[in-house]
Amino acid sequence: MKSMVLKKATDLKIDKNPLSYVEVEIPKIGVNEVLIKISVCGICHTELDEIEGRIEPINFPIILGHQIIGRVIKIGAEVKKLKNGDRVGVGWINSACGECEYCRAGYENLCPQFISTGKDVNGGYAEYTTINENYAALIPEKFIDEEAAPLLCAGAVGHRALKLTGINDGMNLGFLGFGASNHLVLKIARAVYPNLKLFVSARSEGERTLAKELGACWCGDIKEVPPEKLNAVIDTTPVWAPVVDAMKNLKPNGRLIMNNIRKEDLDKGELATIDYSRDLWMEKEIKSVANVTFDDIMEVLNIADIYNIRPVYRIYDLKDANKAIMDIKEKRIKGAKVLRI
Ligand SMILES: [Zn+2]
Ligand SMILES: [Zn+2]
Repeated sequence: MKSMVLKKATDLKIDKNPLSYVEVEIPKIGVNEVLIKISVCGICHTELDEIEGRIEPINFPIILGHQIIGRVIKIGAEVKKLKNGDRVGVGWINSACGECEYCRAGYENLCPQFISTGKDVNGGYAEYTTINENYAALIPEKFIDEEAAPLLCAGAVGHRALKLTGINDGMNLGFLGFGASNHLVLKIARAVYPNLKLFVSARSEGERTLAKELGACWCGDIKEVPPEKLNAVIDTTPVWAPVVDAMKNLKPNGRLIMNNIRKEDLDKGELATIDYSRDLWMEKEIKSVANVTFDDIMEVLNIADIYNIRPVYRIYDLKDANKAIMDIKEKRIKGAKVLRI
């Protein structure tokens, strides 16, 4: 089958073609698994972290990609819920143990044996993939494949981040960064909580324009201070300075949610400027988002279905995956990016 593989971690400032086009064997299914013929796969910022070595895939070469949409074309002997022809999605959660204290408490995202699609096993920058049927999400009829793909990670992890903010209708919610995930979170937040006031800080003019179009009441550069104090902020930036600044602007009991798997180290020194009484006192919190549960994926698909939420996206051919990666790295295109296989 056709695939774009990552053979080793590299530096995107020097190497603009980190992925190689290769033919690999179609994967075999286990008894509880299905074989999926992939139609599209979303591209996530996490792939940049894998390419640049901040997150290490279990081995190389690896097929990246964890926002997979396709049709089931073969089922294992013990598959019960799915049948050939079903349209399914595969997100970052490939499996969890189902038995540990975290899995039993509904936190399978924190399972020590969490397996990530496109990191611990091959992902979706290819023609076929396999998945345990319990982690394949049926996709609502309403969406075309390209619309559904970004919901699987950008949407699901964004939805998880939104839940972790503890926000209620009528409050002030801030966004640091406005890429694939936060633009979907803003759409979800507006639909579910119509009286939220939304404040968007983004580096690029294009992202700020998009935020305004989508209903943000204030948009500014990352360095600008929003005109009101915020109850919660969702951070998707790869750096530290905006986090420190955002803490100053949180209301008492405010919470900053870090929706980024890895931060770059370039400006880590900014953390040393956090002032306890100004930035943390009054029960302000910083909380990270780790992975997603399968329920997060199902919930966001359901919310998107009910409220008619669709991502802004741009399509690339599989063989142009390197161009798509560089467009994300260099912040050239707004919204989500989707590979057509
Ligand atoms: Zn992702
Ligand atoms: Zn577990």
